[in-house]
Amino acid sequence: MCPVQLDGIGPLARFSRRSFLRYSAAASVVASVPILTEAHLARAQRNTLPKNIPPGAVRIDANENPLGPCSGACSTISGLIPEGGRYDFDLTEKLEKTFCEMEGFKPGYVMAYAGSSEPLHYTVLAFTSKDRPYVTADPGYEAGMYAAKVNGAKVLMVPLTKDYAHDVKAMVAADPNAGVFYICNPNNPTGTITKYEDIEYAVANKPKGSVVLIDEAYIHFSDASPSFDLVKADKDVIILRTFSKLYGMAGVRCGLAIGRPDLLAKLQLYGMNPLPIMAVAAATTSLQVQELVPQRKKINADIRQETFEWLAASNYKFTPSQTNCFMLDTGRSGKEVLAAMQKKNVYIGRVWPSWPTYVRITVGSHTDMEKFRAAYTDVMNSSTAGLEPMPLPRRLRETPFTHLS
Ligand code: PLP
Repeated sequence: MCPVQLDGIGPLARFSRRSFLRYSAAASVVASVPILTEAHLARAQRNTLPKNIPPGAVRIDANENPLGPCSGACSTISGLIPEGGRYDFDLTEKLEKTFCEMEGFKPGYVMAYAGSSEPLHYTVLAFTSKDRPYVTADPGYEAGMYAAKVNGAKVLMVPLTKDYAHDVKAMVAADPNAGVFYICNPNNPTGTITKYEDIEYAVANKPKGSVVLIDEAYIHFSDASPSFDLVKADKDVIILRTFSKLYGMAGVRCGLAIGRPDLLAKLQLYGMNPLPIMAVAAATTSLQVQELVPQRKKINADIRQETFEWLAASNYKFTPSQTNCFMLDTGRSGKEVLAAMQKKNVYIGRVWPSWPTYVRITVGSHTDMEKFRAAYTDVMNSSTAGLEPMPLPRRLRETPFTHLS
């Protein structure tokens, strides 16, 4: 759907005065909304100033893919550079159509964005409010919690189960007025899976008028079942997909929101910027490279397995991830370990307040993980006391979120 369905006439032609005012009102609220991404959250906990990662350092703090875009996507991008002077909605429509056809969705059920952070935020803004809380897992991906906070919505955090799945029963019971239930499957930061039946339960038992927001950013790495059938059955579900992870296009920026057209229309009130043509075209190319997902899934699984074997042999505890990230128990202050690793030029992921001894590790390249193992051994064999990282910016430090236990 690109960019707003206006009866086949040009994108902005059919704005009535009323809809224009509605859009402007939404826009004036949105002007102050920071769209926080994994990149911002990873950067906020770096212990250096400026907060850029120095050249040559190991970058395993933001769940990026060291492989980058596939070769077909690179050719598409370079081939399109001369066309960069043009807006081109056709390329966005082609991406949406390609995805719909490949996955069996009716037209209008998929909307492309410059990454999935935008639709994540817009869904939270559209379906939460002062009276309609945001329910999420703990530990879970934080971006939506900040969007809820901007919206004045309460944030309810429900601990993962002992198998590191979303506790869907507790989530659904968290508040009878909740507006959004966020299920990240597989979960960032643990890399663990929530079963399809559990997601079905949440959808069947959630309060009326709410949506279940299923973030499948990491699903290609895993054996988790996609939740597409729930959208095909026209349930109150929005699914997010991104090209930032397995497809290696975090810096190129492309993602998808998948849902009933009336739900997706609500997101459009918050933003409908024309998309970078290279990003959507590279995404379309990537979808069509059949061997890409299995090949990259295997590369990631092999390196992850090798890392897990080493960690297990060294008696370290970690979450049984199926993705390119996992949580590692350092047995001491995770923040101190993180700071000590940065001193060794290895940038690992952040600490979640409810799991203070754990750090998140991204599965990088084979060489990245070799360097990680060497640095981690050194750090764990030495005292990390006194190496607290710099505090987070105030905006990120103040946590208005309610932990349910
Ligand atoms: N959702 C999850 C769970 C993520 O971890 C990320 C990024 O790391 C995103 C969404 C957003 O990614 P992007 O905006 O790059 O598509």
